[in-house]
Amino acid sequence: DKADTGRTSREDLGRATWTFLHTLAAQFPEEPTRRQERDARELIGIMTRLYPCGECARHFEEIVRKNPPDCTSGLELQRWMCEVHNEVNTSLGKPMFDCAKTSQRWSRLDCDGDGELTGCSLED
Ligand code: FAD
Repeated sequence: DKADTGRTSREDLGRATWTFLHTLAAQFPEEPTRRQERDARELIGIMTRLYPCGECARHFEEIVRKNPPDCTSGLELQRWMCEVHNEVNTSLGKPMFDCAKTSQRWSRLDCDGDGELTGCSLED
């Protein structure tokens, strides 16, 4: 099993990270508190410094500098995430994703599958 080699490819890291970021955006409140807004901005800033693929981090830093994150609502954060992911897609020669389809592709964390009914959203 590849997972047992202890090695993580740039692609696997990228897919896992995009899952994390798009799910976070899908779950981000429509009316975030100041604290939530600041936390989201800081998380993105930290990603540009600590993302564990140096070349990707530097590249992401440039993208974020040109497109400062909009963390004022869940919808704005989802839109922003789709746009910056598309910037990365373009630079890697991957197809653009239709941002109108973001909410179909990414939604809130599905805890029901585990028989878990609470603790899934930020409000629970
Ligand atoms: P991914 O790009 O990982 O996407 C996963 C899934 O998200 C797709 O299958 C699709 O269903 C959906 N999706 C695709 N685009 C969007 C979008 N715009 N909005 C919403 N959903 C979408 N790799 C490098 O080689 N060089 C880099 O410089 C680099 N920088 C990166 C920076 C960051 C911050 C991250 C998180 C990743 C970076 N990567 C980089 C990894 C790269 O983006 C991909 O994750 C990796 O190449 C695997 O690609 P994939 O085709 O499997 O799909």
